[in-house]
Amino acid sequence: MANVVILGAGFAGQTAALYLRKKLTKDHQVTVINPWPRFTYIPSLVWVGVGQMQPEKTMFELAPILKKKGIKFIQAWAREIHPDEQYVVTESKDGTKQTVNYDYLINATGPHLNFEGTEGLGPDNGYSHSICNIHHAKMARDAYLDKVERMKKGEHVNILIGTGHGQATCQGAALEYITNIHSDLVKRGLRDKAKIMWISNEPALGDLGVGGIHAQKYGYVMKSEAFLKSLFAEQGIYFQVQTAVKKVEQGKVTWENYEGEEGETEFDFAMLIPQFLGTKIKYINKNGEDITSNLQTLEALCW
Ligand SMILES: Cc1cc2nc3c(=O)[nH]c(=O)nc-3n(C[C@H](O)[C@H](O)[C@H](O)COP(=O)(O)OP(=O)(O)OC[C@H]3O[C@@H](n4cnc5c(N)ncnc54)[C@H](O)[C@@H]3O)c2cc1C
Repeated sequence: MANVVILGAGFAGQTAALYLRKKLTKDHQVTVINPWPRFTYIPSLVWVGVGQMQPEKTMFELAPILKKKGIKFIQAWAREIHPDEQYVVTESKDGTKQTVNYDYLINATGPHLNFEGTEGLGPDNGYSHSICNIHHAKMARDAYLDKVERMKKGEHVNILIGTGHGQATCQGAALEYITNIHSDLVKRGLRDKAKIMWISNEPALGDLGVGGIHAQKYGYVMKSEAFLKSLFAEQGIYFQVQTAVKKVEQGKVTWENYEGEEGETEFDFAMLIPQFLGTKIKYINKNGEDITSNLQTLEALCW
């Protein structure tokens, strides 16, 4: 009998758990470890962040689904992986530590949102917003709707959306968000009250971190750069690419572009995606030594 342990219940962890449960016979055990009781459909946070979708609509309870499928669920953080002795140390909300043995381990813990990588970035200890988790998307929504109220009173507002680090990799989510903000303001009759600007580390507009994409329609092939330049021109969205945000302060970002030039852009509301790194789980060998830095880590990619 094999004991398979999966860390994380996002798209990767859930997919692995459900497929393994389907493929393996019942004498093998599948266990999912996740710190939160709910699954969040992260792509929908681009709607939560403008107040067009209720946060509850993006989530479901993990325990009943996993129980129904015959998958064991442990609600806890994985803190240490001991690959030599094949066990994981978990920590639950109340601080209780537990050892979970495994024969096979899948680490599907997604990205660590590295707000610390850019001074002043992020809603918790900084001045910008994020839509990378449900808690942040709700904060972004409230801050955005506050600016909407100001616009209703006739104020003009600067909105800055994009990446908050030279190595941030989730341009697609930010792009959806900026177009949602544009459409929301059009619907509200407030579009003329906002200057909307895209700031990004991409080499070209529409690169999206994947070298751009091509869309084919009626025999024509269009590159995402041409498409987005045309869309942004039509929607009155300003853009600046080849730019790394270096610092965020109240109402202002400092950036550096590919040419090494530095500058500042002011904002009333900013949603800037942080750099994504691997989650901070320690790897410990059989001698009790921390071998985390020996591991080859890949930066978490988005889309
Ligand atoms: C706003 C937004 C919109 C997006 N839209 C799209 C889209 O339209 N299409 C697309 O393809 N992609 C989209 N993406 C990217 C997509 O959401 C991610 O690629 C995907 O969520 C990654 O899945 P994952 O399971 O690897 O990680 P995650 O979804 O981050 O899941 C990781 C899980 O591991 C848990 N975890 C973390 N640390 C630990 C620990 N120490 N122990 C145990 N568990 C832990 C987390 O709580 C989480 O449940 C979007 C991303 C964002 C932010």
